[in-house]
Amino acid sequence: MRPAGPAPSDDDGPAAAAPLLARAHELDEAEPLRHLPGRYLLPEGLLYLDGNSLGALPAGVPDAVADAVRRQWGEGLVASWNTEGWWDAPQRVGDAVGRLVGAAPGQVVVGDSTSVQLFQCYVAAARMRPGRRVVVADPDAFPTDLHLLSSAARLADLEVVPARPHEVPAVLAARGGEVALLALAEVDYRTGERCDVAALTAAAHEVGALALWDLAHSVGATDVDLDAAGADLAVGCTYKHLSGGPGAPAWVYVAARHQRDVDPPLTGWHGHADPFAMDGRYVPADDVRRMRVGTPPVLSLLALEAALGTLDDVTAAQLRARSTSLVGLLVEALTALVPELPLAGPADPARLGGHVAVRSPDAWGVVRALAARGVVGDFRAPDLVRLGVAATTTTHADVVGAALALRAVLDADEHRGAEHAVRSTVT
Ligand SMILES: *Cc1c(COP(=O)(O)O)cnc(C)c1O
Repeated sequence: MRPAGPAPSDDDGPAAAAPLLARAHELDEAEPLRHLPGRYLLPEGLLYLDGNSLGALPAGVPDAVADAVRRQWGEGLVASWNTEGWWDAPQRVGDAVGRLVGAAPGQVVVGDSTSVQLFQCYVAAARMRPGRRVVVADPDAFPTDLHLLSSAARLADLEVVPARPHEVPAVLAARGGEVALLALAEVDYRTGERCDVAALTAAAHEVGALALWDLAHSVGATDVDLDAAGADLAVGCTYKHLSGGPGAPAWVYVAARHQRDVDPPLTGWHGHADPFAMDGRYVPADDVRRMRVGTPPVLSLLALEAALGTLDDVTAAQLRARSTSLVGLLVEALTALVPELPLAGPADPARLGGHVAVRSPDAWGVVRALAARGVVGDFRAPDLVRLGVAATTTTHADVVGAALALRAVLDADEHRGAEHAVRSTVT
């Protein structure tokens, strides 16, 4: 692995670098969670600013997975569904995720993908508001959210009304009693801009609508508080900031007050009140278990459980504080060192989630040239260089190092190299 950071040179880099590096050092020394990165395994010298896409490997996960495979599966075989608590893992791991999104126990289950649970929630919400046909949703949402909403709308005869978060209050006021659901993400997956979950949930409730939150980029990065905000439904990934691993199962939240009414479309046997009665008639569980569908990916669930164990002694507020500090310094470093690339979102870290994006017509080449220097960010079409900070593993020195590497890439025109012209499947 090549050493990360700025290219070797005779001078000390741009004049703005020294004070930024000094401050990064001070902030890292004073950081209350400075021990956290030591709990994760990252290749030496790599500046990994993509933990918002696939979080780093927690040090305890390889042994936990080996135990799940060799002992629990290999020796315990089918008995492990009872003896190792596999059957209850979706609720148990759900509560561990819930702690980080302000959900009291008994409101979150883990087991399917975010895409599946989004579909469940769209249809369930429509069924909870019969007679109302409108779903207000962000037209710039993550594509899977829009694709599934469009299918749910065909199925349940809904009208999707587009509104960016800042336009939502006006649209809700205009459509009022027709609105069944407001569906938004707290953090924009492209620009990092964050919206006010409590205020927008209250605005939805004002007109009698439900609020569904996609917290894919929030959990582990913001201090979103679902119970306090009065949210109705929420979903999120676990392979991003929570480091659950590639393909780790997603979670779904149903507020306690709705659990006897929520009527999801996928009525699989794991959501049945008494699955082993083997009853041909569907009777839903009377709690959040009714959001379970079929047999969950147990090995991935156990990997996620071990990953969450890494954060047992850490609160969402602590993660948020560290994330905000890192994001703030990243914005400052980018503004000072690469002023020609405009920020895609706000500059105020309080208004950002766990990543920052800058615009460049050569964004793909820039991201590849950074990777060649050992700085991993990602490209988001059409023109974004996205740099994620992980409250768990990123340091203040990392974010300044990444901005310096970006400066060096642009100065040497490395992003225009022919080797960076071809796009890979996953960007
Ligand atoms: C990452 C992400 C997803 C991914 O959904 P999967 O079903 O896990 O592929 C969905 N929505 C948002 C907002 C995301 O950021």
